[in-house]
Amino acid sequence: MTGQAMRLSAVEGDIARLSVEAIVNAANASLLGGGGVDGAIHRAAGPQLLEECRTLGGCATGDAKLTAGYGLQARYVIHTVGPVWQGGTAGEDALLASCYRRCLELAAAHAVTSIAFPAISTGAYGFPLARATDIAVATVSAVIATQPAITRVQFVCFSREVLALYRQVLARTDHD
Ligand code: ADP
Repeated sequence: MTGQAMRLSAVEGDIARLSVEAIVNAANASLLGGGGVDGAIHRAAGPQLLEECRTLGGCATGDAKLTAGYGLQARYVIHTVGPVWQGGTAGEDALLASCYRRCLELAAAHAVTSIAFPAISTGAYGFPLARATDIAVATVSAVIATQPAITRVQFVCFSREVLALYRQVLARTDHD
């Protein structure tokens, strides 16, 4: 394993329950709540999270905004808005990469050392899972090479199938 690869891992579970400094939320542009990961995070964090989100004025696709974690174990939630899949020719790949990059930049700006990501855009937003996983792992690997303070990044998988895929892509990355 290379230095970068040792900082990355995939785990199965509910991201809202993780004990890391920051968890990433796959939100929608309003930041005012949705289903999937977003619903789970807001339920676990409590109503104060939505109150803070209301003050943020939404978030552009490919960008990210940070809030406190309130009732979560995580100190921060970094809300990012993934692209809705439209067939692959509407800049979706670059926008998804931008989500991962912006989240890590915000994390570093707040001295976060450990962060967990869900599989952004692969639920309601319909991004093909294998393609999204390649982008997630490649982008995070490249960005953390320039952010030494981020020592631990976890990809949180909501099923065994997703976990198996992430592990395969991470193993391939180890040998690059
Ligand atoms: P998007 O709208 O960006 O597609 P979703 O929340 O619909 O976001 O789904 C993103 C991914 O997160 C999907 O792969 C989904 O299975 C997964 N997911 C849903 N709930 C959770 C959770 N509580 N923890 C981790 N991953 C989750």
